Amino acid sequence: MNSVDVIVIGAGASGLIAAGIAAQQGKSVLLIEKKTRPAIKLSITGKGRCNVTNSADIHEFIEKFGNNGKFLYSSFSNFFNADTINFFEELGVSCKLERGGRYFPESNDAHDIVNALIKFAKNNNVKIITNSEVVNFVCENKKIKSIVLKNGNTYSAEKFILATGGKSYPLTGSTGDGYKLAKSLGHTIIKPQPALVPLVSSDEYLKQLNKLKLKNIEISVLEDNKIATKLFGEIEFTIFGLTGPLILTVSSKIFSLLEEKKSVEISINLKPALDDKQLDDRIIRELNSFGSMPVRNMLKTLLPIQIIEPFMKKNNIKHTEICSAINKEKRKKIFDGLRNMRFKIVSTRPIDEAIITKGGISLKEIEQNTMKSKLIENLYFCGEILDVDGPTGGFNLQAAFSTGYLAGQLKG
Ligand SMILES: Cc1cc2nc3c(=O)[nH]c(=O)nc-3n(C[C@H](O)[C@H](O)[C@H](O)COP(=O)(O)OP(=O)(O)OC[C@H]3O[C@@H](n4cnc5c(N)ncnc54)[C@H](O)[C@@H]3O)c2cc1C
Repeated sequence: MNSVDVIVIGAGASGLIAAGIAAQQGKSVLLIEKKTRPAIKLSITGKGRCNVTNSADIHEFIEKFGNNGKFLYSSFSNFFNADTINFFEELGVSCKLERGGRYFPESNDAHDIVNALIKFAKNNNVKIITNSEVVNFVCENKKIKSIVLKNGNTYSAEKFILATGGKSYPLTGSTGDGYKLAKSLGHTIIKPQPALVPLVSSDEYLKQLNKLKLKNIEISVLEDNKIATKLFGEIEFTIFGLTGPLILTVSSKIFSLLEEKKSVEISINLKPALDDKQLDDRIIRELNSFGSMPVRNMLKTLLPIQIIEPFMKKNNIKHTEICSAINKEKRKKIFDGLRNMRFKIVSTRPIDEAIITKGGISLKEIEQNTMKSKLIENLYFCGEILDVDGPTGGFNLQAAFSTGYLAGQLKG
């Protein structure tokens, strides 16, 4: 049997950094990856550009991770965003700051981040084996002795780090194996759910709206017809529903509401910059200036062309209607349509299409200042396998790097 000091399972963002840090301390480290090459998910992050971290301060970071954010305090204190930037700089990859505090590699190429992490692991003599799926642990008296691969090979070590990621984008290798492995050791798994995932709508006009992006709009999530959340920004229509930054942000909340059998709608305020009076004055002005022309023509001054047809149908405006014939009641309809264009949400897209998995190993069973299991004396966790999930903007990768760095120190 092959024996080393440390085995890291999963060569993703968190596993690569954990393996390199463990090796820097003089340990012999074996990093085992299921796929044919390391960090496939990392190579597609940020639409291929990899949003490595965010410039937010530690308090904002923790807030972004919601109720479980506090768990990350020790990891972030130990290795944070400036450390991430320096880490990659030292490996020859400079990063640049973009709007929203988001950092990307100067090259706009996620592969540079992947290659830097592999270089870091290899420079520190980590042995990486690919095409090797861990299927089992051999455990005695609350201590792991060895791991078993799908091909039957076994490897033993003093310490183990489980970094198998979440359950989304399974083609990248993250198929939730780590949950089963941890469960077999007695760990509790908080039910994995999709987060940062597109929404499915039953709206009949989606085909017409497909690919339309709306910027500078406000959305409200309506839970049983009452406003649950309001956000300002950008959305995009798809053939099946809605996506884009605002939608991804509210998606895990919507997943929970739908699980509770609540009725959910997204209401879009298409003119959030105008108050009610300004909006009504604007509609009156446009109606007056278009006079005997069809309302459809007037709407071109208020809306992107692609949305006009669905807008008219939703608000019962006929093609034959002309601006000068619009009475107060009809004008109110146009006003309401611009303020509150509704889309019924019936589900989220499946977890396979989620950017991140919500849920994972229960944090109650992990020491936050070491990432060590409270149940198994030589096991550590890092990355998305943990029950933490943040919004888009580089927060999730920073959590993977920070928890990976801490787990790799093998404290405790
Ligand atoms: C499309 C997309 C875009 C994203 N963009 C961003 C972004 O720009 N910024 C950001 O902060 N976050 C982004 N994320 C989230 C980010 O990619 C993850 O949070 C991060 O990759 C988690 O790192 P990890 O190491 O925990 O898991 P992963 O990166 O998923 O790595 C886990 C590794 O473990 C391996 N593995 C699994 N099971 C086994 C097994 N049984 N045996 C051996 N190996 C195994 C997998 O093959 C995989 O290589 C994005 C996610 C997606 C899907």
